[in-house]
Amino acid sequence: MFDIIVVGGGPAGLTAALYGARAGKSVLLIEKYMYGGQITYSHKVENYPACPDISGVDFADNLYRQATSFGVKTKSDEVISAIVEGHVKSVATASGKTYEAKTIIFAVGAYARRLGLPGEDALIGAGISFCAVCDGGFYRGRDVAVCGGGNTALGEAIYLSDLCKTVYLIHRRDTFRADDALVQTLATKKNVVRVMESRITSLSQTDGMLSGITVTNNDGTTKDLAVDGLFEAVGYLPDFAPFKTILPLTADGYGDAGEDCTTTIPGVFVAGDCRRKAVRQLTTAVSDGAVSALAACDFIDKQAHA
Ligand code: FAD
Repeated sequence: MFDIIVVGGGPAGLTAALYGARAGKSVLLIEKYMYGGQITYSHKVENYPACPDISGVDFADNLYRQATSFGVKTKSDEVISAIVEGHVKSVATASGKTYEAKTIIFAVGAYARRLGLPGEDALIGAGISFCAVCDGGFYRGRDVAVCGGGNTALGEAIYLSDLCKTVYLIHRRDTFRADDALVQTLATKKNVVRVMESRITSLSQTDGMLSGITVTNNDGTTKDLAVDGLFEAVGYLPDFAPFKTILPLTADGYGDAGEDCTTTIPGVFVAGDCRRKAVRQLTTAVSDGAVSALAACDFIDKQAHA
């Protein structure tokens, strides 16, 4: 049995594992897709203190190596269910394994929200993407659109502007929600065309590949844009689907825990972007990782002396 199982190997989960292992606890971290989580999609991180310029992949790689150097065990697998009540908790994985622990930290992060348009699902990977760093190279010299108005959308548009002929940036409001630094960088990109106060209302495809979008302005006028790629950056949703009947969640699906990362279930913690909070960034994710791991250690030590 492990002291701590961490579900999710993004910045919050890896930090929790690092803190747990450094505190002398046995830690198993299970990651279903890519160690490092969402930040591996970012070509450049500029706002992490004391790391003025690092790629998301390097950030993730450093954190993974740091955690495993302290003895964290890792498994590439998906946790599909968990038993969270009682002294011995357990998780079951897609590959059929079961692992037991005294505590569980859920650091499952978030996944990209869809626009919800007809035909969208079939075009994912056939013109629709959620990651410019991963897929931008496919659209070199071509016309693409980015949908959204926050930091992720502007970051994607700026990145794509160096690869693509034209980048249409479609946003439903008249101002961006992104940081000033990104708005200013965007202003220097002459091939980014802002399509403000507008929504994408339909998708066109040719031979199974995205070939265009229809954009409707808030005043009701529409226009068709011929694009080969659409990068959707309209927010993220917490990844709690397998656990929604066993964990305390808010009405919008986030882990219901405060800044101490504790839930109403003894020995069960939530950390990172999947927790209810106002700011979802690397700094707040790693903060949750540290807080949740130390809370788990405290819980284990108190149980041992009870
Ligand atoms: P995530 O990073 O989402 O990690 C959660 C992990 O859990 C994932 O790897 C997922 O595969 C795994 N997981 C989920 N469910 C299961 C399961 N059932 N079994 C096993 N594993 C599971 N923040 C900044 O501060 N600065 C930036 O410059 C910045 N740039 C960004 C650029 C992009 C394109 C994106 C998408 C995000 C960016 N962010 C940035 C935000 C930052 O990446 C997130 O706040 C941070 O990654 C959250 O960490 P997390 O560990 O909580 O969640």
